[in-house]
Amino acid sequence: MKKVFSLLAFISLSTIFAQQKIDLNYYLPQGISYNSAIPTPESILGFQVGKWHVSHDKLVQYMYALAEASDRITIENRGRTYEDRPLLLLTITSPKNHQNLEVIRNKHLQLSDPSTSSSLNIDTMPLVLYQGFSIHGNEASGANAGLLVAYYLAAAEGNYINEILDNTVILFDPSYNPDGLQRFASWVNVHKNQNLTVDNNDREYNEAWPRGRTNHYWFDMNRDWLVSQLPESQARIKSFHQWKPNILTDHHEMGTNSTFFFQPGIPSRTHPLTPKLNQELTGEIGKYHAKALDKIGSLYYTEESFDDFYYGKGSTFPDINGGIGILFEQASTRGHTQQSANGILTFPFAIRNQFTAALSTQRAGKVLRTELLTYQRNFYKNAQRESLKDKNKVIVFGDAADKTKTYEFAAMLKRQNIAFNKLKTTVKTNGKKFSPDNSYIIPANQPNYRMLKAMFEKRTTFRDSLFYDVSAWTLPLAFDMNYGYVSNTNAVGERVTSIHSPEGNVTSKSNYAYLFEWDDYNSPSTLYKILNAGLRAKVAMKPFSLNGKKYDYGTIMIPVQNQKMTADKMYAFLKNISKKTGAEIDAAATGLTIGIDLGSSNFRILKKPNIAVLVGDGITSYDAGEIWHLLDTRYHIPITKLDTRNIGNTDLSKYTAIIIPNTNGNALNKAVKNLKTFAQNGGTIIGYRNSLKWLNTNKFIKLNFKKSKAKGNNISFDQRQDFRGAQFIGGAIFEAHIDKSHPINFGYNKTKIALFRNTTVFVKKDSASNYKAPIQYTKNPLLSGYISKENLKTMSETIPFKTAKLGKGKVIVFTDNTNFRAFWYGTNKLMMNAIFFGKMM
Ligand SMILES: [Zn+2]
Repeated sequence: MKKVFSLLAFISLSTIFAQQKIDLNYYLPQGISYNSAIPTPESILGFQVGKWHVSHDKLVQYMYALAEASDRITIENRGRTYEDRPLLLLTITSPKNHQNLEVIRNKHLQLSDPSTSSSLNIDTMPLVLYQGFSIHGNEASGANAGLLVAYYLAAAEGNYINEILDNTVILFDPSYNPDGLQRFASWVNVHKNQNLTVDNNDREYNEAWPRGRTNHYWFDMNRDWLVSQLPESQARIKSFHQWKPNILTDHHEMGTNSTFFFQPGIPSRTHPLTPKLNQELTGEIGKYHAKALDKIGSLYYTEESFDDFYYGKGSTFPDINGGIGILFEQASTRGHTQQSANGILTFPFAIRNQFTAALSTQRAGKVLRTELLTYQRNFYKNAQRESLKDKNKVIVFGDAADKTKTYEFAAMLKRQNIAFNKLKTTVKTNGKKFSPDNSYIIPANQPNYRMLKAMFEKRTTFRDSLFYDVSAWTLPLAFDMNYGYVSNTNAVGERVTSIHSPEGNVTSKSNYAYLFEWDDYNSPSTLYKILNAGLRAKVAMKPFSLNGKKYDYGTIMIPVQNQKMTADKMYAFLKNISKKTGAEIDAAATGLTIGIDLGSSNFRILKKPNIAVLVGDGITSYDAGEIWHLLDTRYHIPITKLDTRNIGNTDLSKYTAIIIPNTNGNALNKAVKNLKTFAQNGGTIIGYRNSLKWLNTNKFIKLNFKKSKAKGNNISFDQRQDFRGAQFIGGAIFEAHIDKSHPINFGYNKTKIALFRNTTVFVKKDSASNYKAPIQYTKNPLLSGYISKENLKTMSETIPFKTAKLGKGKVIVFTDNTNFRAFWYGTNKLMMNAIFFGKMM
């Protein structure tokens, strides 16, 4: 009976919803007038907000229409996504402020400069509020609410809105992730029924791999704010520093059965560099969200989940920049309407909550304006005071052997407005030498001192053992960058105002051979271009010297004679690519060296790689996307994305290497035979993280796993999740010894390396092996971040890398992600070495 009753209720509710007509009044504040000269969303989109998911194209069309019609709005296109969609920013404020905008902006920026901020009269300065939506493309209620927020700001009339616009400059970012939003809108719209179904099983609510959360290369862009490797982030960070907003909001969605969340998050997980007052002000702002949501009867919560630890997230990034970042999370409909624990959850309802929180933010900003501006001023004054107390007055960094990486590191600092200078003299610190022609120096005494600290610090003690995301990101370790601290400013030269990606050169024309070392980040790109042109190239398995210069393991040699190109053509060709990749190529006039001669069999012939990466169901899309992005955009090497659906019966013989990103392997069970045959016939299989277990079970490689056992003592029921969570490695940095003579380590000129790890897959070193492990964790490997005592003990002296023969081919495995989030430049070469030199291992 009960069943019948609920079924009836279910049917009638669905019918009611199908017939419900949404109109603007459902969303907008009532009792005020709206300017009829401003186009409503419906008049441009052709449907009411919430009826369909807005595509990015239509969103763009509407934003331009608003800007055209309203003297409160200007619009700019700041760049393009990977799929060439515009990255729009609307500046919304009173027409009077618009006429004075540059003056307002410059004055606002002075707040973050302690040398000028004291004299500013805060009473007359507007607040700067950055409102942005749906950085996760399939959390679309944000971007759809944005249509209404923009309409409201353009069309609402009366004293209240005038006061908001007079006292606020709103930087309105209608879609943080255009490519993801478009992908998701297509999915849910093509599957929408006229008679809406609330059944969670409907295809509409079950997006196909890789889903719309991420951008074109499947990156979670809400982890990229600090390192800003992606074009979407770079445009946004530029606007951020142009204005330094006081509040930045980030509208997301969470599970369908939840309610609505606004920050503050879990207090004990706030990053220690964030001032206490930041969280207090977040709480003050929260009161306005609570009041507004109370009014429309929506359930919400704060402080019980999410946190402000990793500065790479949109709601945490402002916290290290003198502002307040706010995260909103709305229960997701992942489509148009779904059954949920809180009854039927409709898309318009989700949109209305986001809209309400956007307006309550504006209200909070208006009331707390002077407090927030004062907070910003003091944030930078206090930061300067701290910097003066710091015994380290400067940081030096640079790598003589890797100009590309040094440039990329400097470019990242520059995007974040970190000031750095040239070196006046050579500096020796931390056992390293830094010379003016390939290093930079960063003074601690600068407005962005706190962000600088957040980028460089190593932290291994924490108030909490749980993290929403990674617990460490120490950037010089991620880049494998030489750096050191100095306690005086004697070597600080002139300020660096512009940097350029390095151009390489060829020393002269040769009729015999050319040589270049493998250290530069772009070396794999240089080598690929050479092999792709049909030229023969070889790699040195041992070091040697020629003309007084030492050439390390992994040096590439291109003989001139008996090639497809004449000596003249080859010289021109190499000059051209060295300009693009930064390669420093030496001409060799003789084959006689100190050490292995150029005709030695210790120079091994290289083959042009033909690479496939497994993608699709069962594969972690982030990891696959990182590999795709690295090969496609950094090394310019074409790859084939092989779908796991077809891998069992695809002809694999044309590939030289197949990469298996993180997977539990279930989707590959039908492909065991095909993949094995590929390796047995001479192919290289490169497996990552959890794929190691599958490769071991299916006898591709023999691995000896080590298990960590955490013993809980009297853990209470409500603490059980914290206990389990503490055994999880969310992301931390560890140190390993490397054997430089092993091809996996070619291009590394130190004896240790820092690795990023986010799994608990531990592999024992073979006790029977006579050889040194090519890469082995040190006895006490933690460099930065959180790991439980038990896991750290287990991890000690395990191996993150192993290689084994399989027939004529190779199986190469990594327990760790060497390509994490596009900013782990330091270990990218490990994968490239596996691709190019796998045969020689
Ligand atoms: Zn999200």
